[in-house]
Amino acid sequence: MKIYISADIEGIAGIAHWDEATPDKPEYGAFRERMTEHVAAACEGAIAGGATEIVVKDAHEGGRNILAERLPRCAQLIRGWSEHPLLMVQELDPSFDAVAFVGYHSMAGSGGNPLAHTLSSSTVFRMRINGQPISEFHLYAYAAGTLGVPTALVSGDRELCTEVRAISPLTRTVESMVGVGDSTIARHPDTVREEVRAGMQAALGDDLTPALIVPAGPYGLEIEFEKAAAAYRCSHYPGARLVEAHTVGIEVEDYFDVLRALTFMV
Ligand SMILES: [Zn+2]
Repeated sequence: MKIYISADIEGIAGIAHWDEATPDKPEYGAFRERMTEHVAAACEGAIAGGATEIVVKDAHEGGRNILAERLPRCAQLIRGWSEHPLLMVQELDPSFDAVAFVGYHSMAGSGGNPLAHTLSSSTVFRMRINGQPISEFHLYAYAAGTLGVPTALVSGDRELCTEVRAISPLTRTVESMVGVGDSTIARHPDTVREEVRAGMQAALGDDLTPALIVPAGPYGLEIEFEKAAAAYRCSHYPGARLVEAHTVGIEVEDYFDVLRALTFMV
């Protein structure tokens, strides 16, 4: 069995400030370790559930957070960014049996995590597909779904877990914390880690067909930027238009064209 794991840090238990997610800050080391432990737990659970091959994408900031030596030997680690439109699920293809998202977080414009954002923490206020606000989880679970790969498990803040259950009730969720204003109320990191491990193992024993998250096309992507100038610049992308001063929109038939547009717009 071949499993893909995409990992971020802003939904890792207890994180509450950008300094804890930023490599040149002293607080970062502890959260990098915690992210690594939770990804390793997902790998261990996957192996216990029958995985023989695992690909991990380090999908936070520069893509250089996870400590490779802590992962099992059957795991390959993708570090850095190729800038391929699959971005946070780079190299995912139909040969994988399932995908998991570890340490993911609520969407831009949400109050569910002090570090909530979608792709950019500084430029994007909100992103929508067919009128529905979307997170990084939606973007890449949809990408996996269109490749025929179901989403087995998601770990992250409570609001994200609620969003996951709303579109895929059979995807297992592991809640790491609740965001309140600029604070987080977190579960113990070891409890979350153990649940990620157990959840992965159990998920791979399920029939994952119902956890295939495929959005209905065609796709109307809208990006509401913090600055009008960013929307104006993106309105020159082929097929894009200015919806209003801060918002650019584009309609596409193929979901991959949503990801392609994002590569150039955000
Ligand atoms: Zn991140």
